[in-house]
Amino acid sequence: MKKDQLKHLERRLLDERARVMKELGHYDDTFNSTLQNSDGDLSSYSFHMADQGTDTMEREKQFLFASQEGRYLWHVNQALRRLYASPETFGRCHSCSSEISFERLDALPHARLCIACKAKEEDEKRR
Ligand SMILES: [Zn+2]
Repeated sequence: MKKDQLKHLERRLLDERARVMKELGHYDDTFNSTLQNSDGDLSSYSFHMADQGTDTMEREKQFLFASQEGRYLWHVNQALRRLYASPETFGRCHSCSSEISFERLDALPHARLCIACKAKEEDEKRR
């Protein structure tokens, strides 16, 4: 993926995160400090959460999974983690490793699966 595309998706994710956190009315200090972002610059940004082990992440998950918006926020956070941890593989389908179309990512920046794999997953759920 091109760098400006990645930048665009980072922006989309950060905007979504800000929007949902506002909706949740969640301004908890601990939460904010672990997910704080200065200006969204990929090169200077460090995503502390990833270094803090699974306990913190597990607690965050439990908190967020209590609501639907929270679950969405968790997925957005996970996408940001993936983006910062391995920008070179961001936007690849987690199932078949093909590149997810930029149009799909623009509409759904936290998407982990390409359209074909997503359809397959939905199909299996219905069975
Ligand atoms: Zn796929």
